[in-house]
Amino acid sequence: MMLKKCLDRVPVGSELALEGHPACTECRQPAGQMHVFGCSHEECPGCRKILIGCNCNCLSSANSAKIIKALHDQFANLADAVEVVTAAIAESGKDAAYLTHAAMQYLYENVPPAIRADLNRGFQESHPGLVPLLQDEDGYGYYTAEQLSAALQIPLTEVHEKIDAMVAAGQGIRFGDGIRLQKVN
Ligand SMILES: [Zn+2]
Ligand SMILES: [Zn+2]
Repeated sequence: MMLKKCLDRVPVGSELALEGHPACTECRQPAGQMHVFGCSHEECPGCRKILIGCNCNCLSSANSAKIIKALHDQFANLADAVEVVTAAIAESGKDAAYLTHAAMQYLYENVPPAIRADLNRGFQESHPGLVPLLQDEDGYGYYTAEQLSAALQIPLTEVHEKIDAMVAAGQGIRFGDGIRLQKVN
């Protein structure tokens, strides 16, 4: 088993590479405070790039889960989540970014039940005995990078094909609040 080092988050104003401000222009937290979880201006303590999009996964699992949860809660439609995950596939081989984890989780929760059943089946066939969703001690659910990459390899193209087919057939796909899925290229 590989031990991963956990790094401390970078407070507002302590950035080394990203441009710092007296207060975060995104989440409005003052200098010295932590950004709101999921803020797109937080710097990664490892690579010094934008934390939510880098591939370091260097925070503690509790902090990682909170960031993923916050990002997950910002997704409002499946098309955005598919777009994020699709972009991540182009960079496969690296650990998934927090944003990708969040998109995958959103996708998993919001696809129609039939597709989710297919996702589960593909997952279990490739990794028998693996449970897709983990929870940390605070009760936040998240995917590990290994699980995510396993999930991405098999079923996502199928998800795309099924969604494309439904949209082409003029059915559209409806979700909870009347959100309609737009075609994703
Ligand atoms: Zn911020
Ligand atoms: Zn990083």
